[in-house]
Amino acid sequence: MLRERGKAVLLAANKVDAKEGREGVSQFHALAVDTIHPVSAEHGTGVSELLEAIVARIPSPAGAGEATEEKDAALPRIAVVGRPNVGKSTLVNTLAGFERVIASEVAGTTRDAIDVLVERDGRRYLLIDTAGIRAKRKTEGAVEIFSVMKSLDSIKRCDLAILLIDGPAGLSHQDRQVLRYILDEERAVVVAANKADGWTSEEARRKGLHAIAEGLEYASFAAVVPTVATSGKGFQPLFRKIEEASANFRLRVPTGLLNRMAQSFLYTVPIPSPQGRNRAFYITQVGVAPPSFAVFVKDRRGIPDSFTRYLQNKIRDRFGFEGSPVRIVYRER
Ligand code: GDP
Ligand code: MG
Repeated sequence: MLRERGKAVLLAANKVDAKEGREGVSQFHALAVDTIHPVSAEHGTGVSELLEAIVARIPSPAGAGEATEEKDAALPRIAVVGRPNVGKSTLVNTLAGFERVIASEVAGTTRDAIDVLVERDGRRYLLIDTAGIRAKRKTEGAVEIFSVMKSLDSIKRCDLAILLIDGPAGLSHQDRQVLRYILDEERAVVVAANKADGWTSEEARRKGLHAIAEGLEYASFAAVVPTVATSGKGFQPLFRKIEEASANFRLRVPTGLLNRMAQSFLYTVPIPSPQGRNRAFYITQVGVAPPSFAVFVKDRRGIPDSFTRYLQNKIRDRFGFEGSPVRIVYRER
């Protein structure tokens, strides 16, 4: 009947504890189901394989996860974002000046974004310049509001955002606002503390960079790299961090290893819940860009954000993911 409705069918043959049970599984092949999973609900054997097969058949949320993985992984789309005057255009121009510019496309208006394809150490990147993001204030006209939308648009279009800030001036309210957009869109991010030539001593520079890193809060997974956009100083480490963050954005960790590690930080840990006892019994990575993990729990209602952040931190501790967000979704069996 399920077959006739065009649904994927997974057959779980339960009570396969004994040897003769396993052999008996072959008789089910006559039913023409997609796969047969011998399980023992009592002993828990085969259950994780069954869950993995189920997860593999659940389509990922629209526009997220696996869908983006296929899309031109070889060409990272990089949005250069930040408030006006931090050096975005300078950074793009300097890059384009001494690196090989393959093609560039100039859009209609001067306020519009300009996309530039550059090659560096044999790798290509599509850089998206923007008109800058401004805080929305009453006194500002249509042009500024348009430029905010444009920057949001470039963040939506990118894999990774370089958040350019004025290093010596420190992290401003507007910088944090742009950072929040990047986090909301779950993009990889590297912070460039630009105008680093403005720091008058090594001590001031060290303290300044430390303060910026501290101010990132939920984006503390992002690297902070001092740059001088006018000269290209710091571009080498900047692109090293971009490479790392891009790779981590598409990193896949093995389910077996993940579940072994989850013994210590997930399965044996109670999940705070208003409904009473709650627990997780399985975790698997369901997608990349951003790396997304499905956690199977008894009850998905009311799981506090603090628990999600705890999980994200544990996954980061074990697997890195520097520069990349980590998405957690909860599912019930
Ligand atoms: P945008 O509005 O973010 O595109 O900023 P621009 O690229 O137009 O740069 C604004 C001003 O900052 C220009 O006068 C640049 O020459 C200057 N600028 C950009 N990067 C640096 C830098 O690293 N150091 C210094 N001292 N000035 C910079
Ligand atoms: Mg500019």
